[in-house]
Amino acid sequence: MWMRPDALMAFEVQEVRETLRRYVDVVLGKERPLFRIAQMVRVQVKDDPWEAHEEGMQMLRECLDGCERSGGEGITLLDLKVQLAKKLAGRCSLCEWKCGINRLNGEIGVCRVTRPRVSSAFIHMGEEPPITPSGTIFFSGCNFKCVFCQNWDISQYPKSGREATSEELASIMDSLRYRGARNVNLVGGEPTPNLPYIIEALKYAKADFPVVWNSNMYMSEPATRLLLGVVDLWLPDFKYWDDEHARKYSGIPRYRETVTRNLRMAYTLGEMVIRHLVLPNHVECCTIPILRWIAENVPNSLVNIMEQYRPEYKAYNYREIARRPKKEELRRAYEEADRLGLKWRFVSLF
Ligand code: SF4
Ligand SMILES: [Zn+2]
Repeated sequence: MWMRPDALMAFEVQEVRETLRRYVDVVLGKERPLFRIAQMVRVQVKDDPWEAHEEGMQMLRECLDGCERSGGEGITLLDLKVQLAKKLAGRCSLCEWKCGINRLNGEIGVCRVTRPRVSSAFIHMGEEPPITPSGTIFFSGCNFKCVFCQNWDISQYPKSGREATSEELASIMDSLRYRGARNVNLVGGEPTPNLPYIIEALKYAKADFPVVWNSNMYMSEPATRLLLGVVDLWLPDFKYWDDEHARKYSGIPRYRETVTRNLRMAYTLGEMVIRHLVLPNHVECCTIPILRWIAENVPNSLVNIMEQYRPEYKAYNYREIARRPKKEELRRAYEEADRLGLKWRFVSLF
């Protein structure tokens, strides 16, 4: 497969080697993906399945440096994760909206997603260099309503695309990997409303690949716990610092506390490339405090400071974001990232 030159040399770059060591080894077949380890670990479920999950996660962490298939009793940790994820969907609290409706019966919450629908799946050549070529699966529907969404035709139309069973999702994942993708990149819209089916698909997948969670990170706390031990590379969007701005442009409450909690959790297992889209007129209120938070809390991450914002969809209704960011705004962001010692250059300026 033809490779973009920066993607081809990405694994030799020091910033990448320091931050994505395990991910690179999984891409190269030198390490197992986390979901395979979760398939090897067995747990006995007695009274509290979440307690069994914690025990399983402890075993998974101990297995990171290598362990053989355990022939013990009980169910696999991956099976337990599927069961718990379906339970969350049964009174839906997969994301922080916590709609409480029964998604398994076709009831509809804020995201309006029922069963997973795939809008498209292809090998993406335009992601960050270590991630490209990426086996992207675009799910229809989203729990956010960003006025500047560039994928609004997917994210705001949960009925677009084609419904896929977990087995079908697995065969899409396999085919992307067999066709040369470095990873399977779950995106949308938003993957979170489809989380139980995505984890279930991994049970059926035959290929080994790193799982990339390309998300707005608005998962509930238990949903994030289930993703730990499944996601090899977190690819979160960190959009806002000021909650009023999250509410205004994405219709989201409690944005900052939710996303920072989930980023902290994600940082404990799996590696991370954080994306931040610089919005015009939001450098001081959002960009700068976000970069500072990253430096203090999740420093060993790559940071993609994205300059490509352009007003789309409903953004023209908001004068302050109805233009591209200015050079001075971007320079301010880059200088602050340098001052903080963030690892941003290689993945930002590709
Ligand atoms: S995933 Fe959808 S239905 Fe479930 S809590 Fe979030 S918005 Fe509500
Ligand atoms: Zn702002």
